[in-house]
Amino acid sequence: MSKVENLASIIDRFGPHLHDEPIGGWRAERKVDKMVPTHCPYCGMQCGMNLLVEKNHVVGVEPRYDFPVNEGRLCPKGVTAYLQTHHPDRLEYPLIKRNGNFERASWDEALDLIVSKFKGLQEKYGKDSIAVYSGSSLTTEKTYLVGKFARLGLQTRYIDYNGRLCMASAAGGNNKAFGIDRAANPWSDIPHAEVLIIAGANCAETFPILNGFLWKQRDNGGVWIVIDPRETPTARQGDLHLQLKPGTDVAVANGILNVLINENLIDQAFIDSRTNDWEAARAAALNYPPDVASEISGVPAEKIIQAARLYGRAKTGMIMHARGIEHHSNGTENVLSYINIALATGKIGSEGRGYGTITGQGNGQGGREHGQKADQLPGYRSMLNPEHRKYIAEVWGIDESEMPEPGVSAVELFNKMREGEIKGLLSICSNMMVSLPDTNQVRKSLEGLEFNVCIDFFLSESARYADVVLPGTTWSEDEGTTTSGEGRVIKINQAIDPPGEARHDWRALQEIAHRMGRGKYFQFESPREIFDELRVASKGGKADYFGVTYEKIDKQDGVFWPCPTEESMGTPRLFEERFAHDDGKARFHAIEYKGAAEKPDEEYPLIFTSGRIVHQYLSGNQTRRIGFLVQQCPEPFVEMHPETAMRYKINDGERVKVISRRGEGIFPALVVKTIRPDTIFIPYHWGEELAANQITNAALDPTSKIPEFKACAARLEKIHTRELPILGEVRKGTSQNEVQKGK
Ligand code: SF4
Repeated sequence: MSKVENLASIIDRFGPHLHDEPIGGWRAERKVDKMVPTHCPYCGMQCGMNLLVEKNHVVGVEPRYDFPVNEGRLCPKGVTAYLQTHHPDRLEYPLIKRNGNFERASWDEALDLIVSKFKGLQEKYGKDSIAVYSGSSLTTEKTYLVGKFARLGLQTRYIDYNGRLCMASAAGGNNKAFGIDRAANPWSDIPHAEVLIIAGANCAETFPILNGFLWKQRDNGGVWIVIDPRETPTARQGDLHLQLKPGTDVAVANGILNVLINENLIDQAFIDSRTNDWEAARAAALNYPPDVASEISGVPAEKIIQAARLYGRAKTGMIMHARGIEHHSNGTENVLSYINIALATGKIGSEGRGYGTITGQGNGQGGREHGQKADQLPGYRSMLNPEHRKYIAEVWGIDESEMPEPGVSAVELFNKMREGEIKGLLSICSNMMVSLPDTNQVRKSLEGLEFNVCIDFFLSESARYADVVLPGTTWSEDEGTTTSGEGRVIKINQAIDPPGEARHDWRALQEIAHRMGRGKYFQFESPREIFDELRVASKGGKADYFGVTYEKIDKQDGVFWPCPTEESMGTPRLFEERFAHDDGKARFHAIEYKGAAEKPDEEYPLIFTSGRIVHQYLSGNQTRRIGFLVQQCPEPFVEMHPETAMRYKINDGERVKVISRRGEGIFPALVVKTIRPDTIFIPYHWGEELAANQITNAALDPTSKIPEFKACAARLEKIHTRELPILGEVRKGTSQNEVQKGK
């Protein structure tokens, strides 16, 4: 059974421990053997960096001045990313759990066990009793292979990935409105926009290097309208802040559209020639005059009017959003309501006129295009489309009837584990015990499994539940492509060999497929060979990579897809002449406000929301091991307004209990004026008793199946204790001196 016993000894042995120094220590006189140009492993900016290599060790980093996105800049995460490579917590050989303890095993022993258990479960319960759960920090080659591995290697329908928790609502909205799922403009268009609407995106912390483009826009005289429940560092830099209640984006966006219509700030010629379904969207927006939008959202009506006038009167403008509007049970509708504004004003499809979503994971874009989604095949093809199934079946050399049916989304996948339908799991590059909502339920899902395999390079909170752990590789030990938030396919280059017995993840998957008797479909000798098959598999699809080659990526500093032919240079800006629906037109959508699935009430009077901070990356499995990053923010906090703190008699720094209908946690209070009095916020990068996702609601958006991380009902309880705040103090047991190899 996949239970965690001996937690203290697991943490003692596998961390997270803190690590701060390059291997061999800091040495000013160090002469490196080579500099390997590559990209940051973290967010969707995919900043260019050179890894400094000495004797097969990554000993430092330099930003790349030659890469046009970051031009020599890196954020605190990027500058310390190389320290994960030789971290003492690295997994360097396979582990098998026996009597609650992880014991060292050989690859043969671990693979044999995996295959015999998977075969046994499938014989007893059917092929679909095994699930695969993947991630979008993998290279696109690996995400393609994972999809193929699930459907051909294990022959299961059940595969999904953690991008479902990230940008799925953006994808849903983009596909509905534009017929394609990619940012419409390259980042380099941003400085040409007179007005930016930045909705639910604290890019100053979560996408720091994007700020270079934002500030160039400001230097050109541009204006920012920031829509966010918190006065984030991004909102603080903005010209106009619409501080809405979490979950009320539709009201605000419809309110803005209402003013644009009534003040004739729309572009009727664009609407007539390039869009469909305007009248229905117009009629819906007319139900939201500024006073109604204000009543729902809590944003003063005059600010909604001001935002509409600033954006509507400008000749150019761009709308960008991120998880703040997407992580909702109506996330796709939130996205569509902002797209309506861009379409109504014709501000899309040219320099400085555009729309884009800000990806979270490094390969959030590429990772959602090539078949690791439950209902999707490579090239953004649909599992429900017979032609699409037939094409991919031909590429894979199988009969279409052998292609499994679509599976279910991430949260539903874990529900099925809890319900007993799914008995075995292989997860890769994912830390579900931190990143999925309602972690108390996720724990039950993992504990209910009969067999659980994890591939990772650190033992995450989720890997603790595994029966077998296979040591994978970091980004510095392999090559492949990723696709950044602007749709640019870039190349990750291998700097060093994997440490110890760690193996490339794609080789581990192939090994399992071979032992499952499915080896003929998995004959790849390199990531390049996987990419070449992916190019063919994507050919003619919406996400067409056929014309992308490793050489072209190097030559052009990346290639924007679609790139359908070898002669094509790629497509940096979409929608200049047509949208991707068959008739070439974009679609408006009539959106009515519904709000969050769970609204505050007498028992739970506050709105809980969650998000990220600059010093951590997503589930923290990588960044919570870097001393410098942890020292900046050693643990999560609950941010609350002084009025809220007074109501509950809570002092700044005091530990308080945060409770929802699903769970509770204890966090130090951070009392700030920058949050709404009706809202509390916790960053989500930690696990176990520090997990913000103990609180969150797993209600799903019907289109994207994204969970509602950003709004649920909660209450605070003061803890009557003399224990004083520890915010800023490094937790015991995680200091540099206590790091041990311990394996
Ligand atoms: S902005 Fe993103 S890609 Fe760039 S260095 Fe920071 S984390 Fe890495």
